[in-house]
Parts: sequence; structure tokens; C-alpha cells
Amino acid sequence: MSNTYVTDITHYLDATGELAEMPGEARQLASFLALLIDAATQAFPARDYNTRIRCRAAACTGSIRASVASEDSEILWECPRCGHHGIIRKWQGTKWDQTRQEGLVG
Ligand SMILES: [Zn+2]
Repeated sequence: MSNTYVTDITHYLDATGELAEMPGEARQLASFLALLIDAATQAFPARDYNTRIRCRAAACTGSIRASVASEDSEILWECPRCGHHGIIRKWQGTKWDQTRQEGLVG
């Protein structure tokens, strides 16, 4: 029932790298993706990491698991409970990218 949800986080950002102004539903999705990037890259390199972020699917109480194999990889995420899953691209260098600890902060 669920297709892979492919998202490019840069589509949701404004020129300063913050979440852009957008309608409520899009903004909720963007916030969800930002949280996932933050959690997955904190655990980098992550493999089936439990982010403890609540699944977006209606009435699902699962928490999302995320994998990111390398700095060039997409972030893969999945809800083990309902199967909602997706891919996040272009997360590298965003403000939620916790892998860039050397130098570039701020
Ligand atoms: Zn779910």
C-alpha cells in the first residue's frame, strides 16, 4: 500500500537554510524530515537506528527507524509498524546535518 516517499530536503528550505514558509501540511512534512536528518546523522553511520520519531501515518504509533551508510548516501527511513517509508536526499550540509562537526558550525 505504501510507496517509497522520496524527498529532497532542499525543496523545503529558504535561502538561509531554514524551513521555508509553506502551508501547514507541507511544513509538517518538512519538520518531520528535518527531525529525521538530525536523528539519523547523530547516529551516523546509522543502520536501522530507532529515531524515536513518531510515524506520520494516521493512527500509527510506530517510531521511525533510519539508516544512513555514508556521507554520500541518502537517508532511508521506515516505520516498522505500518511500513510507511521513504528516502531523504540532499541532507548533506543542512542545518540538521550532525556529521559536519569539524569546522563548519554556524
Ligand atoms: Zn507507521
